[in-house]
Amino acid sequence: METSEGRSFIGRFKKGEDLLAAITEMCRTNRVKKGVFSVIGAVSSAKMGYYRQKEREYIECVSLERILEIVSCTGNISLRKGDIFVHAHVTFADHEGSCYGGHLMPGAAVFAAEYYVKELKGADLVRQHDPATGLELWQEEGEIEARETKDEGRRTMDDV
Ligand code: ZN
Repeated sequence: METSEGRSFIGRFKKGEDLLAAITEMCRTNRVKKGVFSVIGAVSSAKMGYYRQKEREYIECVSLERILEIVSCTGNISLRKGDIFVHAHVTFADHEGSCYGGHLMPGAAVFAAEYYVKELKGADLVRQHDPATGLELWQEEGEIEARETKDEGRRTMDDV
């Protein structure tokens, strides 16, 4: 899907906020339905997930109750079940520079965090269940068109 740049936002999250919830709230408040973002800063706890491909489930692989730097937190914003949905991956570093990374889960408490969010314009980017992976993935344009055509057909049938 071709897209173009929309608005940009820069700011910080408050101490004590949940990192993932804070990103999501920022996007909902500003009605950013599609975009990309990055965050750097520090947390006082962290929780990351890992998707078990065979079992098709996320497990909380790393849960840390300690002070860590947010070396990198990057991700994207799209729509899932009609709601703004944030997908974020993160790398945290401890006092020795050792890093932990994964899929950001609720449970990372912000100490200080600076964000940059870039909105992307154009058609909605929608997540739907993908049978091949068990994940909620972006639908390709062709798949959306095929589904809409099918839905129109169904409506016609219902009207008859
Ligand atoms: Zn992920």
